[in-house]
Amino acid sequence: MRKKIVAGNWKMNKTFEEAEELITEIADGLDEMDLNGHGVILCPPALYIEMATDVAEESLFEVGAQNVYPADSGAFTGEISPLMLKKLNVGYCIVGHSERRKYFQEDALFLKQKVDALLRNGVIPIFCCGETLPEREAGNHFRIVEDQLIASLFHLDAADFSKIIIAYEPVWAIGTGVNATKEQAQEMHAFIRERISGKYGVAIAQDLTILYGGSCNAKNAAELFSQPDVDGGLIGGASLKTEEFLQIVASL
Ligand code: PEP
Repeated sequence: MRKKIVAGNWKMNKTFEEAEELITEIADGLDEMDLNGHGVILCPPALYIEMATDVAEESLFEVGAQNVYPADSGAFTGEISPLMLKKLNVGYCIVGHSERRKYFQEDALFLKQKVDALLRNGVIPIFCCGETLPEREAGNHFRIVEDQLIASLFHLDAADFSKIIIAYEPVWAIGTGVNATKEQAQEMHAFIRERISGKYGVAIAQDLTILYGGSCNAKNAAELFSQPDVDGGLIGGASLKTEEFLQIVASL
């Protein structure tokens, strides 16, 4: 169901004590706000998920994971399964983040397997797509994003596809301080919705939540979120500061 959402991707940041403090402050801040039915998802490092789901039980945010291995159990040293996430009340998991594509060589087939394993276990994938700067400069950004969707998502049937969340995250905007303009974000989000409409029909495309990610902060969030096809944001750096993150949530 289409919903306005702010999701925080903490990446590999914060000690346990710092994470506990941040999550408690965010929970307290959300208690003071009227979320109007909008969603807030926090994706802490895996070690802190149980602490986060404990706090979430009494709060207005939900918990997501940053990563998963596409098998329910087995000899995969160091990995975490979708079943483990589900059993800890983790509702979401980021898939296809550009850092995992780049530093861990995760390819489209592997991402497709993760999407399937998550859906099989009732965990919603937050699927990231986006082009690099050279790809945009060469005018290939639409094709790149479309290819990413086709390769890892378009095998899904309509029922499964309608459960997912997409995050458009231009790689050149992630952690750089250079966000996509509201026009660039809207143009790509509309394109994504249009391609999905072509594959799954208008109703499913209109019902899909598409987040923007890439140097989104308290200053630019309201402008980005005001675009008709931008349903909120996936926030990296700015999700590590309580006041800034709460202001971004208030921008929905
Ligand atoms: C991200 O890593 O998903 C992200 C959007 O990072 P940042 O907000 O720091 O650009």
